[in-house]
Amino acid sequence: MSQRLVFFLFAACVSLAALADYQPKAEKVVDNVYALVGPLGQRSAENDGLNANFGFIVTKQGVILIDSGASRLGAEKIATAIRVVTEQPVRWVINTGSQDHRWLGNDYFAAKGAEIIALDRTAATQAHYTVQHMESLNRFLGERMQGTKPHPATKTPAGDSVTLELGGEALNLAYTDAHFPGDARVWLPKHGVVFSGDLVFVDRLLGVLPWSSVKHGQKAFHALEALKPKHIVPGHGRVCDLAQAKRETGDYYDFLADTIGAAAKDMQPMSEVLNRHAELPAFKHLENFYALHLANMNRAFVEFEATP
Ligand SMILES: [Zn+2]
Repeated sequence: MSQRLVFFLFAACVSLAALADYQPKAEKVVDNVYALVGPLGQRSAENDGLNANFGFIVTKQGVILIDSGASRLGAEKIATAIRVVTEQPVRWVINTGSQDHRWLGNDYFAAKGAEIIALDRTAATQAHYTVQHMESLNRFLGERMQGTKPHPATKTPAGDSVTLELGGEALNLAYTDAHFPGDARVWLPKHGVVFSGDLVFVDRLLGVLPWSSVKHGQKAFHALEALKPKHIVPGHGRVCDLAQAKRETGDYYDFLADTIGAAAKDMQPMSEVLNRHAELPAFKHLENFYALHLANMNRAFVEFEATP
């Protein structure tokens, strides 16, 4: 093969990669409520850190956006997806968490006049993790992080739960504290829809991080069940019903708390407990199972050992 041909093929591949540049698309959940379902894999320059779910509600007085993406460019892609559905401006951005893809696009929407809203502990956790999240995103996204300015939520209601209303749409924001401290979920009672934030993961296994809490996750999932939602927009994975969320998240939190946590309280040797449960037929079909499950059990064990 001539050098010129090799170069041509290389250039063709590069432009194909540019064509594959990920653009989220809005899907209707119900009525005027939409979800943007991100890919299940890792953050990348191609997906601009949009490897999570977002959503929006079109009201008579503008758009309420749930979570703003991981960067300025990611926020622009979210804005593009919204514009396909409505000309209305984004009036409110609600953040359900402090993990990068929940809020690092805030500044883009704030500059266009949106009010940025999160419960006060969510906003405090955003500020707390800013440096760490910006550094790790710079590693994943490189120069595509250009122009991203951390902008923690500025309207920060106190209390464990708050109900807000815009354009005839009421939404209830309440803590879950599962994946990150200060995580929250959004409940739209009129539509029977929950935006769970990083409480619910489907299609892929949830991750228990060093700062996550299995106890809070179990409790928050049971509280979500009590709402009897008809549609759940999970933090990651496709839009689902309560039964699937229970099978793939709720039951897993129950397992971590009631089996692994109970063994920890019982002071059983950790390695034996982890070995005994390394294969779980109910969950091992989920993406990332073999990458996360052992560490998840390990962290659950330590959490229940420390505070039985
Ligand atoms: Zn996430």
